[in-house]
Amino acid sequence: MMIRQEEVMLKAQRAMWVVFSRGKLVVQEASQTLPIGHLEELPFLSSYADNIHQLPPLNESAHLSYPVFVVDLGSEHIDEPGWERISLRQLLFSAQDIAFSVIGRAWQYTHFLRTHQYCGQCGAKTERVDWEMAVHCHRCQHRSYPRVSPCVIVSIHNNEQILLAKGVRHKEADMYSTLAGFVESGESLEEAVHREIFEEVGVKVKNLQYFNSQPWPFPHSLMVGFIAEYAGGEIRCQENEIDDAQWFNIDELPNIPPRVSIAGQLIAKTVSLISDK
Ligand SMILES: [Zn+2]
Repeated sequence: MMIRQEEVMLKAQRAMWVVFSRGKLVVQEASQTLPIGHLEELPFLSSYADNIHQLPPLNESAHLSYPVFVVDLGSEHIDEPGWERISLRQLLFSAQDIAFSVIGRAWQYTHFLRTHQYCGQCGAKTERVDWEMAVHCHRCQHRSYPRVSPCVIVSIHNNEQILLAKGVRHKEADMYSTLAGFVESGESLEEAVHREIFEEVGVKVKNLQYFNSQPWPFPHSLMVGFIAEYAGGEIRCQENEIDDAQWFNIDELPNIPPRVSIAGQLIAKTVSLISDK
């Protein structure tokens, strides 16, 4: 793929480097942080010059005083003293400020480029668009953008207690969290809330209140948070999805997700709503 002159110039600048290797991130061993510096300070990248892409900036991340470059090494392994690979989740949960705005976006971009190498309409090879997050097919002019999958995430309270569930996938971690599920095609966010909650734990809710949203890069979700009031029904866990669900007193909470996630923030907000009553 041709690299534009402008990008070659940028590569001579000080930049932040988000390097993916086998689905993990390459960080400096001593500080566990992403490298910030010049290309020549990362000797292991010298043979990947053609695979370096600038992350199209978001307005919000304009406060970064350097460009962000993304390098996807695919299944290549980095074995360089002073460097190590850590998981995306590990870095996100380290609660560094840049985590969600940069790393999450870089991962979604990498995932997008990996899965859109060919046109979905005519099958020709696509080319990356430099000025926005897109790939373009020069044969049929079809342009593709990264997929964003909306997902509702809901905390439910009955004025005194909060309903939390342990997903089958989080069984080992013994962690209870809010309920969440993907919005289906043609469905509103509110309809998705009612459907998901009823499917997963068999209860009805009312008085939905929008809380907040958070991009969640595993691999391209947008979590949309709501707080809902219990309206009726007995807890009945959905097979193969929910291992256990219970009403908890706010002073006897189980192991819950950290505050860096919207689930942790939703639980904290609901607990404060209950305790203010
Ligand atoms: Zn095409």
